[in-house]
Amino acid sequence: MTNILKVFEKKYPSITRLYPLGQSVQNRTLWVLEISDNPGTHEPGEPEFKYIGNMHGNEVVSREILLHFIEYLLEGYNNDAEIRKLINNTRIHIMPSMNPDGYEAAKTDDGSSIERCTGVVGRPNAKGVDLNRNFPDQFEGEEKKLAKETQLVKEWIDRVPFVMSANLHGGSLVANYPYDNRPDQRSLYSESPDDDIFRAMALTYSLNHPKMHLNTPACQGDNFKDGITNGAAWYSVSGGMQDYNYVNSNCFEITVEVSCCKFPGANTLQTFWQENKKSLLEYLKLVQTGLKGFVKDKVSNKGIEGAEIGIVGRSHPVRSAKDGDYWRLLVPGTYHVKVHKRGYFPETKIVKVRDGQAASMDFFLRQNGEKRDDLQLAEVKEKNGKKPVPISLVIGLTVVCVISLMLALALVIMIVKKYRGDGNIKTEYSAIDSEP
Ligand SMILES: [Zn+2]
Repeated sequence: MTNILKVFEKKYPSITRLYPLGQSVQNRTLWVLEISDNPGTHEPGEPEFKYIGNMHGNEVVSREILLHFIEYLLEGYNNDAEIRKLINNTRIHIMPSMNPDGYEAAKTDDGSSIERCTGVVGRPNAKGVDLNRNFPDQFEGEEKKLAKETQLVKEWIDRVPFVMSANLHGGSLVANYPYDNRPDQRSLYSESPDDDIFRAMALTYSLNHPKMHLNTPACQGDNFKDGITNGAAWYSVSGGMQDYNYVNSNCFEITVEVSCCKFPGANTLQTFWQENKKSLLEYLKLVQTGLKGFVKDKVSNKGIEGAEIGIVGRSHPVRSAKDGDYWRLLVPGTYHVKVHKRGYFPETKIVKVRDGQAASMDFFLRQNGEKRDDLQLAEVKEKNGKKPVPISLVIGLTVVCVISLMLALALVIMIVKKYRGDGNIKTEYSAIDSEP
């Protein structure tokens, strides 16, 4: 796989960049191939997208179809206007294998073909950790130890302003969307604030797949209406990657099961690629829909990083990136959009989102006169996870402390004086006593 990726990079140097996220437990590289008209940089206003395959090492179809998909995009850049436009306006990151150690374990396992279809050899990483149960979970109190691969992907999610992604698996045929669990950990529907968007994302994948959306059980025992399911409604998973993305970043992710058999014979791979080609492309195109724009300072015209872009009546704001650029996936409709950042007056606008190309709306915020010191202090406190303390309170407390200290000092001086006085009297008495 490493060689194939290196060949792609060599053949298409102007639109690719192969970069390592780091090493697995057994020192295999977690490679990402970036496809963009300006590889290596975040272009202000352009959304970032990712596909991750082979998170469970024995679920191998995703790894292969992502390699095909990379080739399809790269070839399309020169002969397909739609793909060219997509690459010119999106930064695409593809990681064909998140668990290369598990893949090697599965590949070298000599189980029967049935065992390889349904088995678990190679599913976890080299230390036996199931990576899709290993992410910090919104409903779990305890902090868990993250596997090396989980840690690398988590930092990647925290670092890059991803807008949308999918995580590909095997063992069923369905597009699964957040949430994956509930506070009570029961296997029942667990709705996120963006349920409508997630359903539309999952449907885009399933309806463009020739088999996934058919309401006939493609895989034994599984039957999903339109080929989609809410994660927790299927079965409860805690520590899953898709929920981590949604809860902790701006990235909307779903989990797609692309084959009933986890490790099918190599002669079937071409068919799997053909079945998933349109779904992979149409899903990726969704990153250009919804709402996008910039949040800027009205006076300086500079982008504002970390502004909150909220949809009134929906509790999941996204935050603007370094240059003030933001993206908010939305299904068609009319929305009240409220933008807010400390130190500025909030601003609300009404926006109409249509099918296809994202609506574009910029916000120019006016500073509200809050003093810079106050803001900096507040930001430091927020970073430390504490509530900001107003500067007036700090000054007040300091004054009270100084006065208390002065009073205490005065008291000490008085006591010392009194003590010294007693001493002197005693000395005098002694002197008198000692006289004959
Ligand atoms: Zn899986």
